[in-house]
Formats: sequence, structure tokens, C-alpha cells
Amino acid sequence: MHLWLDHLKAVVVTSPSANVKHGLKMAPSHALRCCKRALNWVPVLFINLVVGWSYYAYVVELCVYTIPNNAERISYLVIFHIFLAMFIWAYWKTIWSKPANPSEAFSLPRAEKELYEREERAEAQQEILKKVARNLPVYTRTAGGAIRYCDFCQVIKPDRCHHCSTCEMCVLKMDHHCPWVNNCVGFSNYKYFVLFLSYASLYCVVICATVIQYFIKFWTKQLPDNHAKFHILFLFFVAALFFISIVSLLGYHLWLVGKNRTTIEAFRAPFFTNGPDKNGFSLGFSRNVAEVFGDQAKYWFFPVFSSQGDGHSFVTRLVQIDPEQANSVLQQNGKGPADGEANPHVLSNNVQHTEDGSKEKMNGGQTVSVTIENEQ
Ligand SMILES: [Zn+2]
Ligand SMILES: [Zn+2]
Repeated sequence: MHLWLDHLKAVVVTSPSANVKHGLKMAPSHALRCCKRALNWVPVLFINLVVGWSYYAYVVELCVYTIPNNAERISYLVIFHIFLAMFIWAYWKTIWSKPANPSEAFSLPRAEKELYEREERAEAQQEILKKVARNLPVYTRTAGGAIRYCDFCQVIKPDRCHHCSTCEMCVLKMDHHCPWVNNCVGFSNYKYFVLFLSYASLYCVVICATVIQYFIKFWTKQLPDNHAKFHILFLFFVAALFFISIVSLLGYHLWLVGKNRTTIEAFRAPFFTNGPDKNGFSLGFSRNVAEVFGDQAKYWFFPVFSSQGDGHSFVTRLVQIDPEQANSVLQQNGKGPADGEANPHVLSNNVQHTEDGSKEKMNGGQTVSVTIENEQ
């Protein structure tokens, strides 16, 4: 099992410089592209085959052929199916949740876009981007201090958004591209992904915990040597191996949730206007967890969407803010920082850039903040 390594590779592959090189290459032919798309499903198919076999081995070979006691058989089957259902539900939602993309507000207005395309000097292009970004809740920059702009999608990248070269799109709060779900893990499905890892671990635990006594009985020849033996021995080993791989990845992601970091940010601290800050989005443990899982406990354990925010802007613990930008945000909202939600330092920015350059209120309500915390 190389789940861990594959995730690290996926992060490296999606670095911006790799994207640019990739984009400059000649577009592969349609047939090649279809072939690549089909190949991308191989890891998902593999997982499905393993789960399908584990179902057969557990239900038929263990419960039907091996367990003699009816009460034990029924209780095992009920527990097994509950965890299997939760695992499949979370896995399904992780695979099929479309990655969230930046809204129209982050595209350049038509006039600025034409200017940007005509302009050849990088500095002048930056000036255009800076002017547009002034009205957007964008606080992260490239390592060189420039506004983050995606040339493929032609959008100003919202904070924590990255371009995925596999999905060929900008993905909000991108964590990594996961080959095991053939999808980008980001704002739209990060909660599902963490639940998928949790229920996959629990599914393995249920199998190992209930199979172990029969595993030992076969091993010590207390049970007859029949075809069920092979399946039950393998079931135990495969479940144990998967558990070790998945639980280490789950542990890492739970740590990331607690720190409010994406895998990309864990490898490269986000750059803010005042420099890099690996804890830039961290608001303390409970608020970090609530950002992914929501603040209503009844939704925490189910793969239904309950993450906070709209994925375009995130509450930050920025210590400094460009005074000009802060003023413009305050004027547009017509209120002071003290009106911010429960936190005197929170600014609210509900400004959306429309194509004609005018401004209007955004429905979702984006929150930009200047919170000062001492968390390390
Ligand atoms: Zn992009
Ligand atoms: Zn992707």
C-alpha cells in the first residue's frame, strides 16, 4: 500500500510551475486524453474490487459458512453493514462531488481583461490585477508578492485556491488531487474525504475484531480445512494492512483539520501581504474543526455538506492589512470593524465584481477578517 506516497506525489505534481510547463505542451490528442481518463479510474476500480471481495469473504465465507451461532452471525452482519454503508456513502460523495471553482467575481472585468491580454510587461499586468484584486477578499500572494492569477482559467485565485493539472481547473481550498477517488479533494468534499478515511478505518477495525477468533481457530486447526479458510486468513491480513495505511493518512488529515491547513499549505506556507504564515488560517482548534465539519454536531458524522463559508474567502489571523484595502472594504459595507461577527477585529466584505465593473452584494456573504491571535 502506497496511499501515503501517492498523496505526496499528487501534491508535488500540482505545483504552479509544473502546471505552466504542462500547459505549454501541445494538447494531447482526443484518443490519448480518453485513454488517460479511463486509466485514472484504475485505482478506484481496485478499491471497489477489494471491497467487493471483502464483502463476499465476510458475509458468505465467514458469516454463512463458518459462524455456527445464529445470534453471533446476525449481530456481526448488522454491525458490518452499518459501517460498510457509512464507508460507501462517504466514498461515493468524495468521488462524485464536483470540485468547487472560483465564482465569476474572480474573473477580470471585460475592460481589464482586454488590457491584461494586450499588455506584455509583467509589471503592468500586475498593476491591472492589483486594481481588480483591491475589491476582492484576496489576501494571499505568490512567494514573490504578486497577485495569484491563473492563466489557464483566467481568474484571480481566491485564497487557498490552486489550479489542478489533472482536473484542469482551479479548485477552491484545494487540498490535493487524490488518485484513490479520482477527484480533487478540496472545499466541496474535504469533510467527505476525512469521513471516508474514518469509516474505511472503522470498516477494517470491525473486520479485524470479528474475524480474529476464526483466524486463530483456522491457524490452530480448531476448524476444518475448507475453502473458507483461505478467504478468512486473507480477509484478516488485507484488513490489517489497509487499516495501517489508512489510519496514518487519517491521523495526518485530522492534524491538518486541527491546524486549519491544507496538504499544500503544510508543504508550502501560504504567503500573505505581510509574508508567509503557516498558521495564517488557524483560528484555534474548535473553530478550525467547525470550519470543516460545521458547528452542528448532528451533521459531523454524516457525509452531508456542513462546512462553513463559501470557499472563496477565509477568516485569517492576519496581523496587518493594507490600510487602503481595509478602508475600501469598510466604506463599501458602510460599517466598522466592531460590527463583525462576535469578533471586534472581523471585517465583512460582501463586494462582488461584476463584468461591467460595478459592485454588488454577494449572496453567500464573504468574510475577510483581521483577527489577532497568539496561537503558535
Ligand atoms: Zn486554473
Ligand atoms: Zn484535481
